[in-house]
Amino acid sequence: MAEPIAFVSRSAQTERDNWLKVLSENLGDEKIIDFNDLKPDDYGAIELAIVANPDPDQLKKLKNLKWIQSLWAGVERMVKELPENAPPIVRLIDPALTEAMAEAVLAWTLYLTRDMPRYHRQQQKRLWQPHSYKPASQWKIGLLGLGQLGKAAAKLLTLTGFQVNGWSKSQKTLDNVTCSSGSTGFMRLIETSDIVVLLIPLTNETTGLLGKNEFAHMKKGASLINFSRGPVIDTDALVDALNKHELDHAVLDVFDQEPLPPDSPLWQNENITVLPHISAPTNKESAAKIVAKNIAHWRKTGNLPPVVNRMRGY
Ligand code: NAP
Repeated sequence: MAEPIAFVSRSAQTERDNWLKVLSENLGDEKIIDFNDLKPDDYGAIELAIVANPDPDQLKKLKNLKWIQSLWAGVERMVKELPENAPPIVRLIDPALTEAMAEAVLAWTLYLTRDMPRYHRQQQKRLWQPHSYKPASQWKIGLLGLGQLGKAAAKLLTLTGFQVNGWSKSQKTLDNVTCSSGSTGFMRLIETSDIVVLLIPLTNETTGLLGKNEFAHMKKGASLINFSRGPVIDTDALVDALNKHELDHAVLDVFDQEPLPPDSPLWQNENITVLPHISAPTNKESAAKIVAKNIAHWRKTGNLPPVVNRMRGY
């Protein structure tokens, strides 16, 4: 029998219990133990930790850890909190989550292109006023990030008829998508897009990627969807650009501080749609199956799935 696997998470007890149940059901003979139920004498035997928002101090106690399997797709917080010589991190790459994100990008893009925030405001004022309709083919959507999530979103948007421009660190070639990289490509994308969608990881390079200068370069009346991480945009500069009507609307699913504090002015801003980090939630069942596959492969071959590049930060 293989050594047990530690489950390390800062989530509430019920959430941890739910994870342990679904992981145990899907991981065959593997024994998974909540870190809190391990005795210090057990720490040395643990070679693998499955984590969901883990406490870095708990992970550091597992001195013989060979790798860390995240149950989340975004591993920004862990990358920031763990030392560079920490064991390799494998993030969750789950087609179910990718589909959910692509669907969310399409949904909130349509929310903006079909003027839903405006009709909602009109309804509150009992105002019957149609506005002109612009079909999908006349909208330019700019995607910042063309990774697992960005590529799937680009595909769904093009299938729906939108013009799609995408930007990534390395140059990509995607069907029906105008791809770019580098600072010239970035400026061209933000200057020409009607809606800019953020699907880029939070790293040293992408912190504050969109601020006062970038908002000033966006098309007048353009909108923004942030499904990445809060600090990728300068929120004060965004609010300023919205209040001055330089930008039209922002759909924000992620924030500098989550949950968004009740006294945040973002809640009351009619040009902002606040979402509670729901664009692509992890599906426990499908995540557990993917994790089980990764672990079975490692047990059989000793090889890890692709790991997070700590130098790059994602
Ligand atoms: P991924 O596969 O690693 O893709 C990241 C993309 O961003 C890649 O195209 C990468 O370029 C590009 N990129 C990274 N740094 C860049 C830079 N400095 N300049 C230009 N492009 C850069 O990640 P993913 O799975 O698509 O996820 C992206 C992010 O979505 C996550 O990190 C997380 O923040 C967020 N997320 C949010 C939710 C939610 O519910 N809101 C859920 C899951 C994930 P290359 O292709 O050249 O590497």
